[in-house]
Amino acid sequence: MLTTTIAIFGAGAVGTTTAYALMLANNAAKIMLVDVNDVRCTGEVQDLSDALPFCKTSEIYRATPQEAARADIIIICAGMPQKPGQARTELVTTNLAVTKSICASLGKINPNALVIVVTNPLDTLTLCVQECLGLPRSQIIGTGTFLDTQRLRGHLAKKLGVAYESVDAYVLGEHGDSQCVMWSSVDVGGVPLEKIAPLSAQEKNEIAEKTRKTAYEIIAAKGATFFGIAACVAEICTAIIFDKKVVIPLSCYQQESGICLSMPVVLGARGIEKIVPVDASQDEQKALAASVQKLQALKAEYGL
Ligand code: NAD
Repeated sequence: MLTTTIAIFGAGAVGTTTAYALMLANNAAKIMLVDVNDVRCTGEVQDLSDALPFCKTSEIYRATPQEAARADIIIICAGMPQKPGQARTELVTTNLAVTKSICASLGKINPNALVIVVTNPLDTLTLCVQECLGLPRSQIIGTGTFLDTQRLRGHLAKKLGVAYESVDAYVLGEHGDSQCVMWSSVDVGGVPLEKIAPLSAQEKNEIAEKTRKTAYEIIAAKGATFFGIAACVAEICTAIIFDKKVVIPLSCYQQESGICLSMPVVLGARGIEKIVPVDASQDEQKALAASVQKLQALKAEYGL
């Protein structure tokens, strides 16, 4: 019996596309939408309900934060999106306030709930939700560089003339401008990239830059990004619901540095089961350390 209930805070572009992706993935029994904009939220629920006859989800409805707090999975994608040219970190003041108010509005939360944070700046807000809710940190997950990793795989797949799924490559660190491509562990069909198709330093830089800039390009062209992230969130929910123990990069708490950033993790029904140790080159270690420093500075500045 599949009875998972999923609550989504934020019925904007990301929240509603995520609801639609979840419906098409056929893994949520009920979906709740919560938004401070009642009119918009009601309209989105009505529109999404028109798709119910074509999927397994039985109900989608507008809920209060307290109802949402009883869900199995709670997704937070409420808050300001980036404007063209704006860095994710520029959203921090506004979206910290939104996120704290959502956490406060939940009241008594399902102690087994898994919380997925999507709102930017992602790593700082994942840490904020962990601090506010008091659930085990393994149950509070940020989407992190999962999306950036798909973008990297896409750029590499195109360059090499293979499918996305045949490229094993990771972007780790901040979901933001200091993100790091882990070049030393890229492989294609199980063969190290260096053996199958060695790329020059310039080619690698171009691909890393394209990956970093994808969101900026989409936002400049159409104002927002939502399809890719919605598919990522649906995939994360599937991994949780089916206890897949899939290894994917997600934003999680780093004990040594006291911040959240993306590392490959094992994701299952109870959330993050393990952080997979990374075999990084010296350059990659330096790049990851820069991400850590940036996120520690943000943490200190905003008193988290
Ligand atoms: P949007 O403006 O379309 O929607 C945001 C919604 O949040 C609005 O409907 C607004 O009314 C609602 N909201 C604001 N405060 C709220 C509160 N306290 N409770 C409930 N709802 C509230 O924005 P969007 O394009 O959907 O983006 C949402 C967030 O997701 C942004 O911060 C954006 O940067 C982020 N995002 C993250 C990723 C990622 O990879 N992690 C990708 C894309 C977007």
